Amino acid sequence: MSNLLYDALFAPHATNPSCFIIRAGITDLSYAEFVARAAQFAHALQAAGVHPGDRVVVQAHKTVEMVLLYAATLQAGAVFLPLNTAYKRDEVAYFVSDAAPKLLVCDPSSSEALGDIAEQAGARLLTLDADGHGSLSEAAEGQPSQFETVPRAPGDLAALLYTSGTTGRSKGAMLSHENLLSNTQVLTDHWQITAKDRLIHALPIFHTHGLFVALNTALYAGSQVVFMPGFDVDAILNALPDATMLMGVPTFYTRLLNDPRLTKEAAANMRLFISGSAPLLAETHEAFTARTGHRILERYGMTETNMNTSNPYDGERRAGTVGVPLPGTEVIVTDPETGAPLPQGEVGMIEVRGANVFQGYWQMPEKTAEELRDTGFFITSDLGQYSADGYLTIVGRSKDMIITGGYNVYPKEVEDVLNDIDGVLESAVFGVPDADFGEAIVAALVAEPGVALSIDQITAVVKEKLARFKHPGRYEVLTELPRNTMGKVQKNLLRQEYGAR
Ligand code: AMP
Repeated sequence: MSNLLYDALFAPHATNPSCFIIRAGITDLSYAEFVARAAQFAHALQAAGVHPGDRVVVQAHKTVEMVLLYAATLQAGAVFLPLNTAYKRDEVAYFVSDAAPKLLVCDPSSSEALGDIAEQAGARLLTLDADGHGSLSEAAEGQPSQFETVPRAPGDLAALLYTSGTTGRSKGAMLSHENLLSNTQVLTDHWQITAKDRLIHALPIFHTHGLFVALNTALYAGSQVVFMPGFDVDAILNALPDATMLMGVPTFYTRLLNDPRLTKEAAANMRLFISGSAPLLAETHEAFTARTGHRILERYGMTETNMNTSNPYDGERRAGTVGVPLPGTEVIVTDPETGAPLPQGEVGMIEVRGANVFQGYWQMPEKTAEELRDTGFFITSDLGQYSADGYLTIVGRSKDMIITGGYNVYPKEVEDVLNDIDGVLESAVFGVPDADFGEAIVAALVAEPGVALSIDQITAVVKEKLARFKHPGRYEVLTELPRNTMGKVQKNLLRQEYGAR
């Protein structure tokens, strides 16, 4: 038996002398060197008592060693579980008790705080710092550079990724070898990624976007990866002239646009700019094209399903849409009440089925049954709408939908009107409890630099463009919208902050 993911992503590179990781402008690691070092890490895992099927939890800075740990975990037949570095001790305690790992890898600065958590779970604790040093790397040093790959069936788990859990507890999405590999193959093909590509990698690697969409496709194609610890405009602009691809969240693109050094010339060598994880404003899309001559390719996916839709590589990349279903993935829009498919043009629940869709939530059979139908369709909680020619637009999250006086209001429709008003940089519309209406509509607005917004003028535009029941009852002008590391606006925080007034 083989090990689907390891055999496709890493094994083929065992003798590949090409450059894999570039840091500070120079080759840091070839593919063959990487595979040999990953084998040393796999020995270290085995020595730490990690057996096939065991979970390996890591909460550490973004380093090449963390990628080595990912490869080693797969080669050892274990399950990779990276955690957002923002999580605090109590949150990590929950993940560790829930996932019951054999090994917890953390930054040396948190080893004291997390020591008893690991002990209670019966897990070993090893460390990895921002430079890739620590007891994990030490344990790998001097180990043999070959490791006998542990066989895994296609349905065996390769990773457990916890959802961000903006409502209720985070859930562990179980991702199999087949889930990850099928999506990797489809994306590599769809975006025409090859060994000639050089990807700028500035995303975190505890999330599906940076870990699977970006790294798995680069590994599968044998591309070069310019590995950055995080997003930094200067570093990206320095890397652009020799790179061919960038994968980012929308804030990458708005920040790049704020810098006059982003020009057609600077992006002349680039083949593809991809955006996802949060909505890219049509305005940003058009501004980027005007500045660089490149059409950003927007795609849509999530932790549980990997990627579901993408704008075409060769066809029209339509601003404000997430494109069309990827080959092998069915994406339908259904009535949220009945689950019946809706006619094209109507707004409804997005449901997804395909080899990319996860195996369910870790130890939460009821949650799994609520969201994953017997037919194999996953109910995403995203609301969407198809155009006549098959492009999907995300209208919002079902839990963000506002029901006011019995009427449904989709925040995005109101946000689109607000964002179009001169002087408004961006907006977030959300519902707050209201004694009369059930929910009242609040709009948080961010002004363009140097602009003082006139709420009278804004309400006049809203009155003209939207039915009365969609009008925000209150406006809050903020200096910026609260966002998480993936660029998503945190409406739960806005509801908390502005709900009780
Ligand atoms: P996560 O599981 O953290 O990747 O979050 C997935 C969610 O991000 C999806 O369910 C969508 O709500 C949102 N999302 C991802 N890509 C896009 C996109 N291109 N446009 C709008 N929302 C997106």
